[in-house]
Amino acid sequence: MKCYECAREGKDTDAVGICIACGRGVCKEHLIREETPVWEGSYPVELKPDLEHIKRILCLPCHESLKENCLFNEVC
Ligand SMILES: [Zn+2]
Ligand SMILES: [Zn+2]
Repeated sequence: MKCYECAREGKDTDAVGICIACGRGVCKEHLIREETPVWEGSYPVELKPDLEHIKRILCLPCHESLKENCLFNEVC
């Protein structure tokens, strides 16, 4: 599988992971690996800690929309 973000830029890079949200391939330049949910900023919501501490892979666009729109609705 090739990196979707690189393909959009006209590059041909092998993906090293798959985004858990959209299922697209991402190379190491374009993946975000973090323990989700991670809510940044000052939104006054009660944070639910990620007790499993599993680092999940997200592509950059999904990471952005995760932060903006709360894709992970078990938390929101
Ligand atoms: Zn890439
Ligand atoms: Zn994605």
